Amino acid sequence: AAFRRAAANGPASSPGGERRGLSSRGCGGGSPARSARRRPVGLSVPAQVGALQVWEGRWRVIPYDVLPDWLKDNDYLLHGHRPPMPSFRACFKSIFRIHTETGNIWTHLLGFVLFLCLGILTMLRPNMYFMAPLQEKVVFGMFFLGAVLCLSFSWLFHTVYCHSEKVSRTFSKLDYSGIALLIMGSFVPWLYYSFYCSPQPRLIYLSIVCVLGISAIIVAQWDRFATPKHRQTRAGVFLGLGLSGVVPTMHFTIAEGFVKATTVGQMGWFFLMAVMYITGAGLYAARIPERFFPGKFDIWFQSHQIFHVLVVAAAFVHFYGVSNLQEFRYGLEGGCTDNSLL
Ligand SMILES: [Zn+2]
Repeated sequence: AAFRRAAANGPASSPGGERRGLSSRGCGGGSPARSARRRPVGLSVPAQVGALQVWEGRWRVIPYDVLPDWLKDNDYLLHGHRPPMPSFRACFKSIFRIHTETGNIWTHLLGFVLFLCLGILTMLRPNMYFMAPLQEKVVFGMFFLGAVLCLSFSWLFHTVYCHSEKVSRTFSKLDYSGIALLIMGSFVPWLYYSFYCSPQPRLIYLSIVCVLGISAIIVAQWDRFATPKHRQTRAGVFLGLGLSGVVPTMHFTIAEGFVKATTVGQMGWFFLMAVMYITGAGLYAARIPERFFPGKFDIWFQSHQIFHVLVVAAAFVHFYGVSNLQEFRYGLEGGCTDNSLL
């Protein structure tokens, strides 16, 4: 609690605080005696050092055990954590430093740029490549909106995670909501093209996934949802939302037959997407590999980074699958000839 107070009294808590902190205490300003007097009571020595370094606008990574409770998330990452830094400037500058969140930030920052570019390219594609250009661009737009929001909420969360308890809590809710938005957005083009000639089941499945997705977002607003204790709950909620796709998949496969489902239905790609997504959620929940080698994956290859990479890869595979569906529909010239879903 004392540490939290120290963090709250930090540079950004008063307007212009950071600059003032830098000038008065920055370049050798505070004598050791003066700093000693200013030390908040009950702070461990490394924590004091961490707090002072923030004051000076300079900081060093700190070990897990001196982190305040709200920054304690994964006890298998022993060292390399950022100290609490209640300054957005310091948080954003830390993107270019090496610490436990560097990999998490960059995996989704680069993923965000990738999907932003893919989205813009798709929207700029000439209308002659679509059967119903406006409708199809809206459908693809929903997917890209979900992906771009998910990835940007995520890299922003990992960047400002060490700011303060309040900021980290707010951004973690955005981060989790983003995952739900990505899943909901992914369903839209898939259901649109897979049930192209069956608008009724298409509408029903779309409504169900919207209700489930919004429920997941509501659950993510619960303060305790972000705590380490509920890691499995989180993995379960998003896994459940993704796995709700099993029902329309079975519907499609029964109606069209296995051969059609795997060829024109692109089920192979969607299966690969699901495997990547489930693997990511599993590694995330079980904290593999750092669980087996605590302290060895503090900076690179921790479960969360692998999960991040798998999310980007799965979203890309999904995009490839729905692009193939779109091409097939275009090849058929959009016609619905018989009672089949295709
Ligand atoms: Zn993350």
